[in-house]
Amino acid sequence: GPALLFVKTSQGKQEGRRFYACSACRDRKDCNFFQWEDEKVSETRLAAREDYNRNHQPSFTHRQNVDRYKNFVLLPSSKRRFCQDCQQLLLPAEWEKHSDHQLLCDITTAQLKSPSQLLHPLENKKTNAQYLFADRSCQFLLNLLIDLGFKRVLSVGTPRLHEIIQSKASQEEEFSVRSLLLDIDFRYSQFYTEDEFCHYNMFNHHFFGGEATRETCRKFLCEENGERVIIVTDPPFGGLVEALASSFKKLMAMWRETEKEGHDNKEMPMLWIFPYFFESRILDFFPSFSMMDYQVDYDNHALYKHGKTGRRQSPVRIFTNLTPSMIVLPEEEGYRFCTVCQRYVSSGNQHCEICNSCTSKVRWQKHCVLCKKCVKPSWFHCNNCNCCTLEKHSCEKTDVGCFVCGKAGHKRSACPSLSHT
Ligand code: SAH
Ligand code: ZN
Ligand code: ZN
Ligand code: ZN
Ligand code: ZN
Repeated sequence: GPALLFVKTSQGKQEGRRFYACSACRDRKDCNFFQWEDEKVSETRLAAREDYNRNHQPSFTHRQNVDRYKNFVLLPSSKRRFCQDCQQLLLPAEWEKHSDHQLLCDITTAQLKSPSQLLHPLENKKTNAQYLFADRSCQFLLNLLIDLGFKRVLSVGTPRLHEIIQSKASQEEEFSVRSLLLDIDFRYSQFYTEDEFCHYNMFNHHFFGGEATRETCRKFLCEENGERVIIVTDPPFGGLVEALASSFKKLMAMWRETEKEGHDNKEMPMLWIFPYFFESRILDFFPSFSMMDYQVDYDNHALYKHGKTGRRQSPVRIFTNLTPSMIVLPEEEGYRFCTVCQRYVSSGNQHCEICNSCTSKVRWQKHCVLCKKCVKPSWFHCNNCNCCTLEKHSCEKTDVGCFVCGKAGHKRSACPSLSHT
């Protein structure tokens, strides 16, 4: 899909130079597309690029994959094989070609229903950063959606949530929640029909299947018979908040346009799962959102995973435009309701009388009267810097300009000109 426009700023220069780069790949090794905004592109280079793109298409279309799947499920389990090297379901006629590859045999129906377990997570790639929900977090999300009465879930980059909804729907007759998965990982097209999965890029709102897949999404967002729909998303944490927010606003607009009268001032309900340190960035784009204390856990993320005993602290939270008091967090996992804040908070999060809010993000905080806010307990107030900071630090003299833009009043890390890149 379309590239994004970035700006390269260099020290001392006011204006940066603008260039286009791949929206999805933050690593130049994954995609080396680069073009200055004002660059003239020769016919040969253009042709070469089109050629490259043609040669890098997936080997089967989504349609073909759906047909292959139909044939695959008809096979007796002794003939169901999955190539781990190619990450592909194999039909018997193809075994030969994959004979020296690592194969998984006797693929069960249960395995086909949990592709996120069968496929290996693309975690080393900065591009995909697939971190799968731990069971308890996934169950928590599903139960939350059920309790809130949602019947449709637009799962944007949440294959594991999609898969438990799908498999529950196929097993339990009374279970009426449906899910549509939007994800850039095309391997999922082997397991889901065109009504269940759209190949989508959430950094530029691009539907790879063109108008037909966009229409699938639009239809899904129509709330027939009052069936309420919600977006649940868990983007790669390295992703640009600005680009993501712009895509989510377009999905929300799609929803708004499906309704002839209703919706006018309402915002489409959404759960955006992201680390707590992006709180202010997310609120910049979605002022109606608030951050929940619930810590989202992952299976294959060493840092954000629960240990068997005790728990590691996950920095990942849920941002939502739903009324916070409706998001009930499990008491058995140490959350409690704060009647003043009217939301569930983690047990260590004590209500600060001065801020009049439960302010802690990770650990217990202390209030600084000079900063007029709660800060980390290990910080102290530095009169030189006029803010709270670590005890060991080199004082920033405010008369020295910012390293990036040269202006006084902020440090390099907070430079407003950097927020464009
Ligand atoms: N916790 C989720 C997975 C989140 S990992 C779960 O268990 O269901 C991030 C997801 O976003 C992955 O599925 C990845 O394939 C997808 N993704 C990464 N970049 C994307 C992009 N540009 N557009 C759409 N999806 C993307
Ligand atoms: Zn193979
Ligand atoms: Zn409180
Ligand atoms: Zn306080
Ligand atoms: Zn200082």
